[in-house]
Amino acid sequence: MPEATAPAPGKKPIVPFLALPSDPGEKPYLTGSRCTNCGASYLGTRMACSKCFSTEAMEPVKLSDRGELHVFSIVHQSAPGVPTPYVAAIVDLPEGVSVRCNIAGVGADPKDLKFGMPVQMVTEAIRKDRDGNDVIAFSFKPV
Ligand SMILES: [Zn+2]
Repeated sequence: MPEATAPAPGKKPIVPFLALPSDPGEKPYLTGSRCTNCGASYLGTRMACSKCFSTEAMEPVKLSDRGELHVFSIVHQSAPGVPTPYVAAIVDLPEGVSVRCNIAGVGADPKDLKFGMPVQMVTEAIRKDRDGNDVIAFSFKPV
C-alpha cells in the first residue's frame, strides 16, 4: 500500500481522503480503499465492500489524478459567501471510483464542458484555518 507520507507542514486537506505529501516532488493525491477479495475500489476509507460484502479485505490505495467528466451541473445559487456560478461535477477515475468535485479552469458555460472529457486533479489553498494553516481543496480541470 502507498503509506501516506507525513502531511506537508502548514497545510490541511479539506477532506480526509486528500493526501498532501510533504515531499515537494510528490503531488497531492486522493486516497481510496480496494477490496482484495473482488477488486472493487472506493473513495476514502471503507470498512467493508458493498459489492462482495467482505469486511476483512480492504487495502488503502493511491487513486489516479486523471479521470473523465461523467456529469456536471452549473450552480447559480449557493450558500452565502460561496461565489457562483461554478461547475459541480462527478468525475470517474480509472479505478472505478466516482468523485464529487468542482471543475476548475473553465467558465461556467456548458459549451466548455463535454461528458467524457479528460480532466486532471488540481489543488489550491482556499482559506486559512484557526491555526494559520492553509486549507487545501481539490478540484478537477480539463487536460
Ligand atoms: Zn469486494
